[in-house]
Amino acid sequence: MNEATTDSVSEVVIVGSGVAGLSAAVYAARADLEPIVLEGPEPGGQLTLTTDVENYLGFPDGVGGMELIQRGKEQAERFGAEFEHATVEEATLDDRPFELELSNGNTLRTRALIVATGASARWVGADGEDEMMGYGVSTCATCDGAFHRGDDVLVIGGGDSAMEEALFLAKFADSVTVVHRRDELRASEVMAKRARNHDVISFRWNTELVEIRGSQAEGVTGATLVSHPDGHPTERDESAVERETVDAGGIFYAVGHVPNTDFLAETSIELADSGHLRTQEGLTTETAVEGVFGAGDVMDPHYRQAITSAGTGSMAALDAETWLEQQAVRETPAAAEAPADD
Ligand code: NAP
Repeated sequence: MNEATTDSVSEVVIVGSGVAGLSAAVYAARADLEPIVLEGPEPGGQLTLTTDVENYLGFPDGVGGMELIQRGKEQAERFGAEFEHATVEEATLDDRPFELELSNGNTLRTRALIVATGASARWVGADGEDEMMGYGVSTCATCDGAFHRGDDVLVIGGGDSAMEEALFLAKFADSVTVVHRRDELRASEVMAKRARNHDVISFRWNTELVEIRGSQAEGVTGATLVSHPDGHPTERDESAVERETVDAGGIFYAVGHVPNTDFLAETSIELADSGHLRTQEGLTTETAVEGVFGAGDVMDPHYRQAITSAGTGSMAALDAETWLEQQAVRETPAAAEAPADD
């Protein structure tokens, strides 16, 4: 456990322990910055919720998401990164060193900060989802899929995550129906093809989930779906959509993610309308606050891959290292007073 209090000042604190945070930790630790890595409510981030990662360079046979994260953590620890299980409740970034109030009661002070808090699963907004989340409604097939052996399940979404969830659930469920609001998938061709070719998986096009049926005692029993031939049925006049009740024993959401930036709302960090951390134009991870850097899905609404997150994690650590060096030079009186060369 880290002993840091308001008396000690770290060189760099990394908020987030997903692939971006870990990559930043490896680079920062190798640069002797002794980073402290804060692990939040989902230690290891989204990769821990996935099965095989097939597109991370260097693993020709694929690698388990959890394994990749475990190895990354060991790698960071080997170079001296310290991990603390806590979230940031309040960040004071107006003065340096920055001050972070943590959920475990500790306060950290740090010269540089790397925000790598990732993104969390988005919910659909269907009636009953608040009550039924965790009782048959899930955002993680790898976590909850095995509870649905022999069930008919729905997967909501049309991206790679939805295909991945459907393919995983097809190992357990009797039927998997992908419910997508348009008639065209957003998923990559390779993932879409695998799902389309699977005999347990079928598709409901131009269809959305509006209600979850069941109770916490008996779990999910069904759902109400709406459809419209031109897609996006919930945006249409109610009289123009077809409404239908279907039986289902489980419902899995795969409708994208929202960046975890709530704790920065009161700071001078600039956020995009989507909530993503805004970093400076060009190849840098600097934010609007000098000394604060962003990495991974929290600042990347576009690529959102494990390998790009690892890339921006290393960039954030390199940017932080350079910035800290410049600060140190500026703060050294000897440097300021050094005689000019004759
Ligand atoms: P995504 O690509 O943003 O797809 C989200 C899907 O959910 C879209 O099809 C979207 O519909 C739908 N959607 C969004 N809000 C909705 C709502 N309120 N109701 C109904 N449907 C809604 O997100 P993702 O699938 O999580 O993928 C994120 C990134 O990770 C992508 O870059 C993806 O390639 C990557 N990824 C890769 C792999 C892999 O290669 N193995 C696996 C998972 C994810 P529209 O299409 O109409 O917008």
